[in-house]
Amino acid sequence: MKTILLGLTAALAVLLHPAPAAAALRVVTTTEGLASLAREVGGDRVEVQSLSRGVQDPHFVDANPILAVKLRAADLLVDVGLDLEIGWLPPLVGQSRNAAIQPGGAHRLTAASAISALDVPTGAVDRSAGDLHPGGNPHFLTDPRRALQVAEAISVKLTNLDPAGAAVYADRTATFRRKVETALQGWKAELGPLAGRKVFTHHRTLTYFLDWTGLVSAGELEPKPGTPPPPAHLAKLVEVARREGVKAIVVENHYDSRSDDQVARLTGARVVPIPGDVGGDPAGKDYLSYVGLLVKRVVEAVK
Ligand SMILES: [Zn+2]
Repeated sequence: MKTILLGLTAALAVLLHPAPAAAALRVVTTTEGLASLAREVGGDRVEVQSLSRGVQDPHFVDANPILAVKLRAADLLVDVGLDLEIGWLPPLVGQSRNAAIQPGGAHRLTAASAISALDVPTGAVDRSAGDLHPGGNPHFLTDPRRALQVAEAISVKLTNLDPAGAAVYADRTATFRRKVETALQGWKAELGPLAGRKVFTHHRTLTYFLDWTGLVSAGELEPKPGTPPPPAHLAKLVEVARREGVKAIVVENHYDSRSDDQVARLTGARVVPIPGDVGGDPAGKDYLSYVGLLVKRVVEAVK
């Protein structure tokens, strides 16, 4: 009797709570920022996984074979591009034996193709000499206007791969656009009066954020993206900070901030820790809350 009752209860539970339909597409992204955008656009039709965590330095992710297994089953791979993942993604994509997600493949989207890049070097660059951004700056998701362009490119790609979901993707993209536009208005009110204020950044991560907010970079702790700061460079920054009234040193929480602290002590500028990506701080679990956090922390420091 007990067994029959248990069986009936289980059957009833299935009827009342049917298992969710399997997602139409398995999407793998290289970063949590891209994963959040894919979820905004894809909703329940996509199952999204990020290869890196928001607390990690996205330039240097351990190319663990488990990640290649995730890529093997992917219907779509979305990467940032501009060489951000060049040290770890190509070997994983090779190991995945998934032909469709190779660069240029039908099931691959490189987000950088959707935006206009900044910091594109004009002279000779040498990655081996320490420059991590030889093709332009890959940290464009710090600008919500560009993130919206990326979300739209993801929407187009999802529609191509899953035409039955076209209406869902179009609808969700329009909703996301409205959310971004509303948020932009609020941020503009906070940031507008602060245009022209000067900040240092640890790595050259905030080029697009500054382009959007009107704040100005007075320099980076790293003399070249990826190169640790030598003492002479720090001494120069201390001079610049005193002369130009630099109020904030913005540093992603995955970097060692000892050199930032040193410059802060000598100048009165404040070290501002920020998440490096969505998920890099518990208060920034999706794209818009992550940008909200960047704005909040920077505004507090420079006003
Ligand atoms: Zn970088």
